[in-house]
Amino acid sequence: MEMRLDKFLADMQIGTRSEVKKLIQKGHVSINDQIVKKVDTKVDEETIVYVDGLRVDYVSYEYYLLNKPAGFLSATQDSHYPVVMELVPCIRKDVGIVGRLDKDTEGLLLLTNDGELNHRLLSSKNHVLKKYYVQVDTDIPDNAEDVFSKPIVFEEFTSLPAEFEYIDNRSAYLTICEGKYHQVKRMFEKIGCTVTYLKRVQFGSLTLDGLESGQYRTLTEEEIKDLY
Ligand code: URA
Repeated sequence: MEMRLDKFLADMQIGTRSEVKKLIQKGHVSINDQIVKKVDTKVDEETIVYVDGLRVDYVSYEYYLLNKPAGFLSATQDSHYPVVMELVPCIRKDVGIVGRLDKDTEGLLLLTNDGELNHRLLSSKNHVLKKYYVQVDTDIPDNAEDVFSKPIVFEEFTSLPAEFEYIDNRSAYLTICEGKYHQVKRMFEKIGCTVTYLKRVQFGSLTLDGLESGQYRTLTEEEIKDLY
């Protein structure tokens, strides 16, 4: 995709649009060993640009898998609480979060600026599976599997059948293919249990496999393809 040199550098967070314009005009930027002073010089993703001798490669899309710790908001910024974006040093400003986890929920969160993928993963039509590890405050009733295997009527939506896996009296896995507000907590409320700990352990084909809380990694080409 053809773009202006000042946009190329601003996208790569070399500076704000006006800062990079100044850098270009002052002769700090070169392409093919030639200093380029015109801010609207046409470049594309393949162009190799140097700023003060340092190579800047253009990144069109970024994909991250984060193991979100409790206490972080699924937001790009907030004046009161830490936000997940602080945990991932994204290059581009347009990287956003795929869906939301509650502040006290931990686990697998995807971040990307690939709008098409974001839309696909969140679209209820695509039924992307999300698996949660759940701990509750009282013993899970015997009918849990039965209740969750059928649609449950909430005020603003009816949940689709979910897969329940019993671990012990007070913990289980629940796999849902939607992501409505507080959905897992509200589903457990329907069987008389309050969720005391919640962690998303799987999203589509992706798992946390070994990522510690607060750690992130980039997705592989293979994983991105699998998500599409
Ligand atoms: N369900 C919830 O209740 N909370 C989450 O964070 C995710 C799913």
